[in-house]
Amino acid sequence: MAASGSTDLSTTPGGHAGGKAYYVSTPIYYVNDAPHLGHAYTTVAGDVLTRWHRQRGEKVWYLTGTDEHGQKVMRTAQTNGVTPKEWADRLVETAWKPLWEHLEIANDDFIRTTQERHTHRVQEFVQDLYDKGEIYKGSYEGPYCVGCEEFKLPGDLIDGTGEYEGQKLCPIHGRPVEMLSEDNYFFRMSAYTERLLEFYAANPDFIQPASARNEVLKFVQQGLQDLSISRSTFDWGIKLPWDPAHVLYVWVDALLNYATAVGYGADQAKFDATFPADVHLVGKDILRFHAVIWPAMLMAAGLPLPGKVFAHGWLLVGGEKMSKSKLTGISPHQLTDHFGVDAYRYYFMRAIPFGQDGSFSWEDFTARYTSELANDFGNLASRVAAMVGKYFDGTLPAATADGPAEEALHAALANAVKSADSKVEQLDFQGALDDVFGFVKLVNGYLTEQEPWKVAKDTSEEGQARLATILYTAAESLRGLAVLLNPVMPATAEKLWASLGAEAHLGALPAQRVQDAGTWGQLPAGATVTKGEILFPRLEEKKDS
Ligand SMILES: [Zn+2]
Repeated sequence: MAASGSTDLSTTPGGHAGGKAYYVSTPIYYVNDAPHLGHAYTTVAGDVLTRWHRQRGEKVWYLTGTDEHGQKVMRTAQTNGVTPKEWADRLVETAWKPLWEHLEIANDDFIRTTQERHTHRVQEFVQDLYDKGEIYKGSYEGPYCVGCEEFKLPGDLIDGTGEYEGQKLCPIHGRPVEMLSEDNYFFRMSAYTERLLEFYAANPDFIQPASARNEVLKFVQQGLQDLSISRSTFDWGIKLPWDPAHVLYVWVDALLNYATAVGYGADQAKFDATFPADVHLVGKDILRFHAVIWPAMLMAAGLPLPGKVFAHGWLLVGGEKMSKSKLTGISPHQLTDHFGVDAYRYYFMRAIPFGQDGSFSWEDFTARYTSELANDFGNLASRVAAMVGKYFDGTLPAATADGPAEEALHAALANAVKSADSKVEQLDFQGALDDVFGFVKLVNGYLTEQEPWKVAKDTSEEGQARLATILYTAAESLRGLAVLLNPVMPATAEKLWASLGAEAHLGALPAQRVQDAGTWGQLPAGATVTKGEILFPRLEEKKDS
């Protein structure tokens, strides 16, 4: 076994111990184009995850950003007649940041790899590895995919057909690779094969889901090759400090954002309180970079390894209305214009199991919007507010006649909270929303059975106590739902919180703790319940253009 370092294999990485923030990253996205649904999918998932942990009262750090170096960005900029930096500035300010704002992404930082806080620290990092003998100069020839920005192993290529008959293609891009020969610098990654395999064995949750883990294990078990980490054929990148004729391989540059953004080499206190990431969210096409190269780089530098690399699946476009579109052809705005931002955030987390491929369609989105959001949830909220208004002048009555039906709901809320919390911890967003919306169904069923509109006709003291109990129970259930849905649909949850008059008694919604959400009886009698705006209005008929 090669080089030993300071990484302690017996320690579970990540975790929430000490004062360390729960640190989640998205990949930094290439600025060669505007963001599409796939980027938004990852970023919304990270936002739901981090909002949930904030709602648990944890210190959280959510990072996203853009990857602005490399040949692909350079070529796109040239095609558009601007410098790569001008191109990146334009896209970041007019496309990327505005979309994250639009989608209510509460990231704590946005890093751009052209920023000095990144480039200088990256140079220090690679200089350190060079000084340690982890980087050497050599010559390399091999098949290279411009789309991936990487040399490919011959065994990974696929045979072309049709117009590419007789050529070898990148399996991801389906385009011919170029044979490239370069004098460049290499990172001694081959020395980390055994240590990585030991690390994976000691940390079975490091790569998720299991299919992703198996793929990486198989790849590393073949033995790693040294990694070419510099290019001298173009100059849009970070120069190697000891040989400025070379720029750093864009992936090594990009991966280091997870360290430079949280103070590596600049702010030790912040770095110690944040690094390493608890969860790196990645698409499965970039899994190897995060699960193999990145930990090997960290081992070489003697830095701690991340807690988890989670590879989500592909979004596939299904259904009739979008069947001719490709993922990249649909802008998130097209969907939010029609369904709204909160429904958008909800839909992708609810409809597709995180970690698996899943198809989405206009029709499925419409069906879920109507049945789950508008009918089950939105209608519940407005009915309860209307009845408290009608029968109690908008003042929440006290529950004085709890029976088995009420006690069943108290227990159901507590169970939903507990179960959803553990599922979000495992990044099972769909499962968590199943729990929450299962509870919504129970509350609806409770109202159907208890028939408060009939009980209201019984003007006896007993009848009125019963009516008060039913409406209190429904309103307190909505209180729990507002807390549970706040990480997923923050604007909607705030509207519900306001409609329940909860803030005056319980404080701001984001200050409510997930762990306490299942504790019954928090909303006090006397709260002012108002019928706010409709949470999920009926959808306009889509006009086909
Ligand atoms: Zn490729």
